[in-house]
Amino acid sequence: MKRCLKCGHLLQPIIPPAGNLRFLSCTNPNCDYVISEPFKSPHYDLLPVPYDEVIKVIENERREAEKNTVIIGQARLTEVYPSKDRTVTVAKLQARIKQEYTLRPYDSVYYGKIIGVVSEQTKNYLTLLFDRSKDLPKEAPLKIAEPVILYDSAATILQEKSKRDGQHLSLFVQIPGVNPPKPIEKTKNVITVKEYDLDPEKQSIVQEIITMPQWDYRAIEGPPGTGKTTTIAVAAIEAVEKGATVLITSHTNVAVDNALEKIFFLRRDLKDQIVRIGHPAKISKIIRQFIDTPSPHEGYRKWLKRILLTKRIIGMTIAKLSVCDNVYGLNVSSKETGRWPTFDYVFIDESSTVPLCTSIIPIYYSRQWVIFGDTRQLPPIVRSLHKYAGAWSLMELAATNPQKIRMLTIQRRGNKKIFEAISKLFYQGKLNHHQTVTNSFLNVSISTNGWLKEALEPVNPLIWVQIDNGYMDWCKVKKGRIEGASGANPLEAAAAIKIYGTILNSGIPSSDIAIITTYRAQANLIREVIKELKKTEEPIVASLYHYRKGQEPNEEYEPEDPENLLDLRLAETVDSFQGREKDLVIYSITTHYEHKALLDYRRTNVAFTRARSKLIILSSLQSATKTPWLKYLKQTSHFIKINENALQPELGKVNEKHQKICRR
Ligand SMILES: [Zn+2]
Repeated sequence: MKRCLKCGHLLQPIIPPAGNLRFLSCTNPNCDYVISEPFKSPHYDLLPVPYDEVIKVIENERREAEKNTVIIGQARLTEVYPSKDRTVTVAKLQARIKQEYTLRPYDSVYYGKIIGVVSEQTKNYLTLLFDRSKDLPKEAPLKIAEPVILYDSAATILQEKSKRDGQHLSLFVQIPGVNPPKPIEKTKNVITVKEYDLDPEKQSIVQEIITMPQWDYRAIEGPPGTGKTTTIAVAAIEAVEKGATVLITSHTNVAVDNALEKIFFLRRDLKDQIVRIGHPAKISKIIRQFIDTPSPHEGYRKWLKRILLTKRIIGMTIAKLSVCDNVYGLNVSSKETGRWPTFDYVFIDESSTVPLCTSIIPIYYSRQWVIFGDTRQLPPIVRSLHKYAGAWSLMELAATNPQKIRMLTIQRRGNKKIFEAISKLFYQGKLNHHQTVTNSFLNVSISTNGWLKEALEPVNPLIWVQIDNGYMDWCKVKKGRIEGASGANPLEAAAAIKIYGTILNSGIPSSDIAIITTYRAQANLIREVIKELKKTEEPIVASLYHYRKGQEPNEEYEPEDPENLLDLRLAETVDSFQGREKDLVIYSITTHYEHKALLDYRRTNVAFTRARSKLIILSSLQSATKTPWLKYLKQTSHFIKINENALQPELGKVNEKHQKICRR
């Protein structure tokens, strides 16, 4: 038995382990000592993976995705015009949408057969952004649909691979009979990475990536704020300088854009080498200039060939890659240009969120693999069948070989006090803090007195607001055809709204603040009330989980899509540079008991590490015995206790709204 280093009491392991960490906390209730140690499921040593375990997950995910296709209403075109920067078509539609569906900016909607992206929804109107090349019907049904092509593409590739590998799926292997393509003419000699002002740690990682042998991989762990994007960008630039063709991919558009923006920022002269494939409305404004689409009469195959012959840095999501594979014939186009595998390097970002079953698509198309991720943040989203290897994250599988893992350890994102706690809790103290961030405090002065002033005092970066008698209600929410329960906590909502209003009045713009909740219903409640109060700008609100289905103890959670969670941008400003981190993050735990959704620390880690200067945790929790990281934060934060009297008049508004939107 291990003992507490602070008080000598016994340490107690929390069972079951929270994802990939096992936490031990002190049995002395007055002591805040907590440590965590890596916990590896025995499964993770299995590479290659049995074919069955992957195909089962693919089939299941495909079925679930299909279920989610549903007609949500009918719409009629009233106005069409090009956006100011002429990159997309803006369409105003008169729309009747069934009451139970709320669309949010960035949601994808089919108008007839054409996919559009939501920009705004009002009572009778819907504004959608379309690809400029599309002709829109006058009237059509509105559908929400999840793509199934991703799974079709993965299944085909898996079959192809199984011919070679037998009943086991090997991930990182040389394709027999494939010779490396003819080396491309070097654009110039490899320049020293010192030019980019990298610290020695990143320099050595970049050096290793660009000198690694063919048919090999590296897994780079990048905790929050440690410069993952910069590392990807510099390594990609250097690979291109060597003459390589590079695919930059991820689950999310934001991740792809961030890497491309960084490349463009570091090396404007490479702009003719960059291409971005994807829906313009989901792509950052800076990167839209790199979008390429087939010219009239060109056809997809020719278009892909043209791209492969003229571009070296290609950015698209894994979903789009699957469309190129399954619909546009990337396989054939590549072979026709004499390039197979198509890409020399693939950089897969956020690969801890990418399940093995879909990551085989980018792996198949490349022969040097660079895998970026953080297994202490978001796990992959798969709807069930977690026991099968196809559902595990690429990063976790790739990181099973210690010789291939490297870790970035210097964080430059946020205040030292916040990140020290994060490092201790989740990274075994391995994070170092760059001198530029140790003293980043929220620059605000509040004139009112009381708990708000105390909470917003710049010298306290970490705040815990304990709310007396706060409670969570389960409300019904819908996603596609599936209805589930989601939680809302009126007192915490009122507290979040009060803090938000106060800070806006002090002159801090809403784009510097994010409100993150555990459940979608709480996010909806907060957003709706702020909208109604109208005196403030539209807030940035995100949630970690969408809904739960089933009853305890076997209930399942539908996690929020990482695009919704990580993409803390404002609807109108699509520039991702100011993106995912905010000066102030308000996190509403929402539940008043240690509900199952809290027990995996990884999503909460994402919420905490969005904060640069201040993190305010709103809590109604009465105990934290199964979540020792929360217990630790409660004891190390500046602690404030309030009750409902401190929350008027906002609480009145919240209760009214809560009654309305929370159908029991
Ligand atoms: Zn102790």
